[in-house]
Amino acid sequence: MSATPLLSGQLLFELNTMTAMAKIYCRAHHQQEHKKTLCAECTELLQYAETRLDRCPYGQDKPTCNKCPVHCYKPHMKQKVKEIMIYSGPRMLIPHPIMSIKHLLAERKPAPGKPPEGVSNRHIRKQKLT
Ligand SMILES: [Zn+2]
Repeated sequence: MSATPLLSGQLLFELNTMTAMAKIYCRAHHQQEHKKTLCAECTELLQYAETRLDRCPYGQDKPTCNKCPVHCYKPHMKQKVKEIMIYSGPRMLIPHPIMSIKHLLAERKPAPGKPPEGVSNRHIRKQKLT
């Protein structure tokens, strides 16, 4: 689904889930015709989300964003994601049943404590380069 080599595992799953939700939302709110691609605004939002996921201090053990004690999103970006989730969350079950269930299970994980050191995807990526 996503062409990014940056993320893997749970982080990539979250980005893919968010991409699927953004597509549903964008098609309903931002586009006149049913195009396959996202509008510029939604594309920018997903790029931003990818960067945040890459830098998430919890790395592969990250909680879902609404349980997370770290507020890493800029307020207006957070607001956009929230709107997308509220609209697309219930509409995901039919086109993406497995993704929806995995996401709902992840939502039930308890909120974590302070993040450990050096487990973000970005940190691990940088280590592999040196
Ligand atoms: Zn859009």
